[in-house]
Amino acid sequence: MKFTFALVGNQNSGKTTLFNKLTGSNQHVGNFPGVTIEKKEGQIKKHKDAWIVDLPGIYSLSPYSLEEVVTRDFILKENPDLIINIVDATNIERNLYLTLQLMEIATPMVIALNMMDEVTNSGNSIDVVKLSEDLGIPVVPISAAKNEGISELIDVFMKTAKEKKKPEKLDFCVGEVHKAIHSISHLIEDQAKDNGYPIRFAATKLVEGDEPTMKDLKVTENQMHIIEHVVEDMENALKTDKEAALADMRYNYIEKICKSSVVRHQETIEQIRSEKIDKLLTHKYLGIPIFLGIMFLIFYLTFGLIGAPLQGILEEGITLFTEFISNILINAGVSDWLHALVIDGVFAGVGSVLSFVPIIVILFFFLSLLEDSGYMTRIAFVMDKLLRKIGLSGKSFVPMLIGFGCSVPAIMSARTLSSERDRKLTIVLTPFMSCTARLPIYGMITMAFFPENAAVVMITLYVLGILVAILSGLLLKSTVFKGDSVPFIMELPAYRIPSRRSIALHMWEKAKDFTQRAFTVIFMASLVIWFLQSFDWSFNMIDDSSKSILASLGSLIAPIFEPLGFNDWRASTALITGITAKEAVVSTMSVLTGAISDVELSAALNTMFTPLSAFAFLVFTLLYMPCAAAFAATKREMGSLKNALLAVTYQTVTAYIVGMLVYQIGSIFI
Ligand code: GDP
Ligand code: MG
Repeated sequence: MKFTFALVGNQNSGKTTLFNKLTGSNQHVGNFPGVTIEKKEGQIKKHKDAWIVDLPGIYSLSPYSLEEVVTRDFILKENPDLIINIVDATNIERNLYLTLQLMEIATPMVIALNMMDEVTNSGNSIDVVKLSEDLGIPVVPISAAKNEGISELIDVFMKTAKEKKKPEKLDFCVGEVHKAIHSISHLIEDQAKDNGYPIRFAATKLVEGDEPTMKDLKVTENQMHIIEHVVEDMENALKTDKEAALADMRYNYIEKICKSSVVRHQETIEQIRSEKIDKLLTHKYLGIPIFLGIMFLIFYLTFGLIGAPLQGILEEGITLFTEFISNILINAGVSDWLHALVIDGVFAGVGSVLSFVPIIVILFFFLSLLEDSGYMTRIAFVMDKLLRKIGLSGKSFVPMLIGFGCSVPAIMSARTLSSERDRKLTIVLTPFMSCTARLPIYGMITMAFFPENAAVVMITLYVLGILVAILSGLLLKSTVFKGDSVPFIMELPAYRIPSRRSIALHMWEKAKDFTQRAFTVIFMASLVIWFLQSFDWSFNMIDDSSKSILASLGSLIAPIFEPLGFNDWRASTALITGITAKEAVVSTMSVLTGAISDVELSAALNTMFTPLSAFAFLVFTLLYMPCAAAFAATKREMGSLKNALLAVTYQTVTAYIVGMLVYQIGSIFI
């Protein structure tokens, strides 16, 4: 017999930590059918017959966001044997709000009361036995991070699943809400049974006016009228709307339970500490300058103090290895063209990108520090206020933050936005956030033109990306995407010291991803570029690449960039290959200039650009259409090729205009 357990809880309640403790390393990552939200599935340690699925973190079961829909669908349609509801004991009231909704589904359920270490440390306590009695479901106190209570938890949920023991109490409604829920229950009882819906859950959802439930139950027009009437009566009697009425009822019940089982003398030490830190970090005026300061420091450390020497060492290693292979090839007597293909094509192209691995790894060390400590949420929070002031949804900033890593998952994560307008707008704006694949380009150009001011140039580009996104948002909002944005409520988790394991995992994933791209996309692009720049139209191999196929093609486009200050076929070719993957701009430049070392590449770049036009080139690469993978994601999420083409056209035209402004205005002063 095989058991499936669904792990459900609020964000930051410790789901991932518990999942890892329960499964060890036996996990399997996949997607939910039809959507791109990640699904983690794993076998419970020492229980071959028990599988656990880590569902997205949610606060309620109303389908306001895709995560909520995914979780709901999983529980209702995949029928797990038991729900493990993880509850953050330091925020018990808010977490129980979800618990009450889960109970209505009437699936066997166990509460894992997590973070008990923090509760006890601050001198508070929770009467677990009383809580369990009041709720009518087993409650097991645990500390996932400290590995406490895990084996007890496993025992309890295995037992509950075997006994198929459902929550004992469902009826915690009173007064008018009670009346409404019960009359609707009677009305739709048969349909709920026929469609595998728990009756009480169906009735509550219908009070809420939940559309998926109406569709699933095939509620008739006549029934619809009755339901509307019942709900209206309830609203009139209570003098509030239906959402507030239900929320009130749940919170009243939670308050009653907590009064008798939770002893709280004070907030936990972590909460008090977090409040103090937040006074400064989310300060009305200082919040954003502090964020920029922190980012500046990170760039300075990443590209200067720590990253540059490491990159230098790796580069020397790559050069030595290249020479070594080159000598082997020469001694083996391979033909000139094969030698050139391997050394000037593959090694130059892939090597130039690979040398950025240390920088990427260091940057992600810092970024995961910011994310895991809880600081990133604060930034979204601070930006939310700012964005709302200018009429954009603050929730858009979350995909945009992901966009600093890679546009592809960022574009996909825009699905969490409930308003169609906000979602499309966010998809168009997200690629303006500077993704990691563009870093090698910035590295290459700053090395050649602004070695002293690398950090300043970087931060300028990142900020420029954000500014262009904000201005674009304002422009598009008043033209194409008219309408109001949906307000967004965010939970600020307590600051916590990030775990070493999770940071190491982040760094490793990034390094792996980046290296993989170097050996696949960049490898192919380098081969193609090498061929096109080594042969002329009659397929004679040539020495002077300015007579090559590539040069004649590149020269067609090059004049377009005259107003941006770089009319050079190599620069425009690099921009075209950059569409396959942004790193390809660097590998193309290396292949085209035939540069073996940094010094040679810098010298070659100095013949193509002035410092000003080099900066205009950077601005263009920052803003122009994203890579092929991001384009594909845009097309999928926008739902049509036409919309995706409009989006990338908008991005590229913006890039051109801003790049031109930078060069033309700069030329007046320099
Ligand atoms: P998720 O968002 O629900 O997946 O939560 P995570 O597993 O990522 O945990 C959020 C934060 O809480 C992390 O910093 C964890 O290290 C921390 N955490 C998880 N469980 C515990 C616990 O039992 N005690 C303490 N003190 N921290 C915990
Ligand atoms: Mg998680």
